[in-house]
Amino acid sequence: MNTRTCSICEMGQLILNTEKIRVEHLSQQGQIESQYSMCDYCNSEQAGTDEARLNKLAMNDFKKQVFKTV
Ligand SMILES: [Zn+2]
Repeated sequence: MNTRTCSICEMGQLILNTEKIRVEHLSQQGQIESQYSMCDYCNSEQAGTDEARLNKLAMNDFKKQVFKTV
């Protein structure tokens, strides 16, 4: 597993975290797993390009589910 050094404090390592967030699409509510990195030293939350891409995919999956149920 590759570790990334925090670009803010340059002391800590970025740890990948996931959290469930509420999303809404066409007035259908659901939850997706949002990914972000958090520094273990300064506790800064940072969403890199990998995380942003995964979050977009999760949102797209949710939208597909909405289309199936309506
Ligand atoms: Zn940091």
